[in-house]
Amino acid sequence: MIEGGPEPAIPPAWEPYRQGDSISGVAIRDVRVILTAPEGIRLVVVKVETTEPGLYGLGCATFTQRPLAVKTAIEEYLRPFLIGRDVHDIEDIWQASFVSSYWRSGPVLNNAMSGVDMALWDIKGKIANLPVYQLLGGKTREAAEVYVHASGPEPAAVEEHCRELMVEGFRYLRCQVAVAGYSTYGVSGRTKDRHYRVSIDTRQERWSPEAYVRRVPELFEHLRSALGPEVELLHDIHERVPPIHAIRLASELDPYRLFFLEDPFAPEDNGYFRQLRQHSVTPIAMGELYVNQAEYVPLIQQRLIDFIRVHISDIGGITPARKLAALCEWFGVRTAWHGPGDVSPVGHAANLALDLSSSNFGIQEYSFIGERSREVFPGTPEVRDGAMWSNEQSGLGIDLDEALAARYPYPEHPVNGAWPEVRRVDGGVQKP
Ligand code: MG
Repeated sequence: MIEGGPEPAIPPAWEPYRQGDSISGVAIRDVRVILTAPEGIRLVVVKVETTEPGLYGLGCATFTQRPLAVKTAIEEYLRPFLIGRDVHDIEDIWQASFVSSYWRSGPVLNNAMSGVDMALWDIKGKIANLPVYQLLGGKTREAAEVYVHASGPEPAAVEEHCRELMVEGFRYLRCQVAVAGYSTYGVSGRTKDRHYRVSIDTRQERWSPEAYVRRVPELFEHLRSALGPEVELLHDIHERVPPIHAIRLASELDPYRLFFLEDPFAPEDNGYFRQLRQHSVTPIAMGELYVNQAEYVPLIQQRLIDFIRVHISDIGGITPARKLAALCEWFGVRTAWHGPGDVSPVGHAANLALDLSSSNFGIQEYSFIGERSREVFPGTPEVRDGAMWSNEQSGLGIDLDEALAARYPYPEHPVNGAWPEVRRVDGGVQKP
């Protein structure tokens, strides 16, 4: 300090408020984890209970391949960290939880944080007596249009499946065809009640990227010719081919005008998007496997993708997802949040809150939610006329019947539900 200069500024005398104390008078009393599998898929749901009798929130923390690791992260680390905090401090709780492990951004901890985060948005909505989409800015559309999955052993069978779905009012169809002799992603036996079929077959399945990239253009040539120009067709590569194969496939699919082509690359191959853009005008949707903002922010900022497809619980919940949606809006990227069977109905309700309130909503993936799930989760969003609708209840509008949930324990599985191994013809491991 220069002698004779001004005295250093003295911070004002703040109220003795410590970040994390409850000032609203409603605090987190307990954080509980509920494991259930009404459709055979391992779901993880978090229930945040408050000091206000009867007031609680629900969140999705489903990481179906490692659910018990998420349960431990919540019960052993987040629960003691969060009890006593103000339920209204959603942003502060997210930021504090994010760095409390020092090492961060992995799927286990992100899912644990998502369970708490969605539950806090649910609670805030209940206190405000408003649906969560209202807290996020209000409705920008009546309902969220969905896409559903069509598949079959041959292009003609996929066409037949598409026609059945179109009769039911679906206008966006993700189409996958089997590659004879190989285990093909997205093609499974259809069950009568359309419950998601969960394989417990962990035998090593063989795969040929070359056979697959020859097959897919045949499928879309058939479908576009048979179904006409108006129906929207989608396809998921699911990262299963070398990057240059994906680039060629995207180029070959250009004439069939897909609504989007999903996950052309593994997250580790992000560097290929610029080459892809130089060879194809097919819209690109990416990436359900992202867990770290460093993976997706550059792709958005450089306008290398057209749809952001993260799994909301895998990036940490509604709090990071609403920021991501806003970032995407300013770069012309639309949302297409991941919505398979391993998103719990609570997670679907969170997706819907963002779908309704985001002006850059693109499409919502939807897997048929069976009656058992709808009984366990009263208030699960309805899908009709090809779109998902809010039930207009406060918060996320969804509840959990814990007694019923307990009647659907995780199914027996030799490796606790892990992703089945896929190997190439020579036995080398293939990314999923
Ligand atoms: Mg996918």
